[in-house]
Amino acid sequence: MAKAAKHAKKFRIKQGDTVEVVQGKESGKRGKVLHVLASEERIVVERVNFIKRHVRPSKKVPQGGVIEREASMHISNVKLVCPSCSQAVRVGVRMQGDDKIRYCKKCNVQVDKG
Ligand SMILES: [Zn+2]
Repeated sequence: MAKAAKHAKKFRIKQGDTVEVVQGKESGKRGKVLHVLASEERIVVERVNFIKRHVRPSKKVPQGGVIEREASMHISNVKLVCPSCSQAVRVGVRMQGDDKIRYCKKCNVQVDKG
């Protein structure tokens, strides 16, 4: 059984965010975050980091062949795309009452809606 990390990092990237890849061969690509694997510090981004899988013919895939799907990548390889200034930015967090609000460090606009 996986032990809970003692110093679990709070990620500032969430499912549904748009991110831009800033490292590696996919650098510059943007996509929506499909999953955040917090314990592994990895994320899966829509249409980014495709891997090819060769599959045998089956009921689901009668012709067999190559299936492409997104592979996870390390969370540090992406930056959030600010919905306001639409640039890949660093995200800050500030308290608003009891809530943590994410904001863009570039244009200072709140990232989370409502
Ligand atoms: Zn911004």
